[in-house]
Amino acid sequence: MTDKNGKCRRCGACCSGLLIVEAGVEDVEREPRIEQECLLLDGHGSIPRDQATWSVACGVACGFLGSDHKCGIYDTRPDECRGFLAGGEQCLRTRAEAFAMVNVEVGE
Ligand code: SF4
Ligand code: SF4
Repeated sequence: MTDKNGKCRRCGACCSGLLIVEAGVEDVEREPRIEQECLLLDGHGSIPRDQATWSVACGVACGFLGSDHKCGIYDTRPDECRGFLAGGEQCLRTRAEAFAMVNVEVGE
């Protein structure tokens, strides 16, 4: 949730796998754990390293998301994550989708 000033309230929805988060080589150079722990999308070796991407989150929660809903690599997180604005349109839409899923599961 965000507060009235748009500050992140750490609901974790944006990092829970609802969004596709990928990292590039600059992200990997800033944070080596991405290369060590995330799947390299290299087209079976056909893509040069400087154009490669790593799958940080897609369908399942990001491995760097802690149980406290904090990012475990916050200071060195990928550029895609840096561009995600708390309280922004994507934040609000992702939260709405996450909470709709929770309601469906609870209602089953
Ligand atoms: S969805 Fe928005 S409020 Fe929730 S953790 Fe992400 S940025 Fe913060
Ligand atoms: S790297 Fe951090 S901010 Fe980015 S998806 Fe993972 S937990 Fe969220």
